[in-house]
Amino acid sequence: MSHSLGTSQNPLRVAVIGSGPSAFYAAEAYLKQTALVVEVDMFERLPTPHGLVRGGVAPDHQKIKSVTKVYDKIASDPRFRFYGNVEFGRDIQHTDLVAHYHQIVYATGAQTDRRMGIPGEDLSGSHAATEFVAWYNAHPDYRDLHFDLTQTHVAVIGNGNVAMDVARILASSEAELAVTDIADYALDALRKSRVTDIYVIGRRGPAQAAFTNPEIKELGELADAEVIVLPKEAALDPLSQEMLTREPDRTVMNNVQTLQAYAQKPPTGKRRRIHMRFLWSPVELIGTERVEAIKIVKNELQLADDGSLRPRATDQTEIIPVGLVFRSIGYKGVALPDVPFDSKAGVIPNQQGRVINPATGT
Ligand SMILES: Cc1cc2nc3c(=O)[nH]c(=O)nc-3n(C[C@H](O)[C@H](O)[C@H](O)COP(=O)(O)OP(=O)(O)OC[C@H]3O[C@@H](n4cnc5c(N)ncnc54)[C@H](O)[C@@H]3O)c2cc1C
Repeated sequence: MSHSLGTSQNPLRVAVIGSGPSAFYAAEAYLKQTALVVEVDMFERLPTPHGLVRGGVAPDHQKIKSVTKVYDKIASDPRFRFYGNVEFGRDIQHTDLVAHYHQIVYATGAQTDRRMGIPGEDLSGSHAATEFVAWYNAHPDYRDLHFDLTQTHVAVIGNGNVAMDVARILASSEAELAVTDIADYALDALRKSRVTDIYVIGRRGPAQAAFTNPEIKELGELADAEVIVLPKEAALDPLSQEMLTREPDRTVMNNVQTLQAYAQKPPTGKRRRIHMRFLWSPVELIGTERVEAIKIVKNELQLADDGSLRPRATDQTEIIPVGLVFRSIGYKGVALPDVPFDSKAGVIPNQQGRVINPATGT
């Protein structure tokens, strides 16, 4: 006799691939179904769960990391099982899963970063910011990387939260890092760091920066570092000013105010400086074997068809001597074997979350 799906005789069996926030919230949504009996198995390629909450979120942001308590509660449900060290595509295949599960959730994150696509990007000393992040967070795949912290000048490309994290960790004092759960080897390397100047380079202006107000304020609270903003770069261009007047946005206004306050502050002579540079894009990493400088081009903003303000390069350039570059300009997913993939967008094609074949749309 066959039993209907989602009953105790025939539970809905769900496989979740990955164990970051998306995976846990998906598992929770299944387990909360009252009309269905559900069993959830989670498969993670690493031995430990929690994805980028463990390997991405900065070690000095323990409050954010404490979200894992919610995931532990979900994992304590007797209908939930976790399988660590199991990689989809290596240890288990799509055919295995469809044979044993009614539904599969792909929650493997955005595992690769977008490249700048400029000459010199592959020189020694040029890194994805996420490699540095994974290294200081003790990710097993990255713990053996080496970053040349004997360099004094560093460029961080991007204005998002990852760029802010990297700038802050590089600028933090030993005492500030010692109280975090940063990897011991990273603490040791950062303790010996000779970094003095960190250039955070954003392609648009202060009003378009993706960082939050607490993130930009945090940089100004570091013991050994000060934030430097050029008054002319903190000032809003006419298009941004007009947009902000038309559509006031509290976060943007707070960010602009904070940056303008930094621009007014006289130098304090701290050991390290974080230079926030706005409306510049990298065009070349200069060096023979390793990065010796970065060439950047000044942008101006123009109104795009979708109503947003986009950067357009001018003919003004600047060369900043730097020995290390961390790029953080966006992330995308990687293809999983036997699962449709949109390589241009870097996502699994889907309709409201349901995986579709892009050729047929079903
Ligand atoms: C440096 C950094 C700082 C951040 N700081 C914050 C912050 O302060 N606040 C905030 O809200 N967000 C922050 N984020 C963003 C946040 O971490 C992500 O939005 C979130 O982790 C995404 O969750 P996810 O589940 O989609 O993917 P992930 O967290 O990336 O999890 C994906 C999981 O899938 C696993 N996996 C991948 N491929 C396979 C496979 N083939 N088989 C099995 N398992 C696989 C991975 O190992 C990983 O565990 C930060 C991100 C980074 C990189």
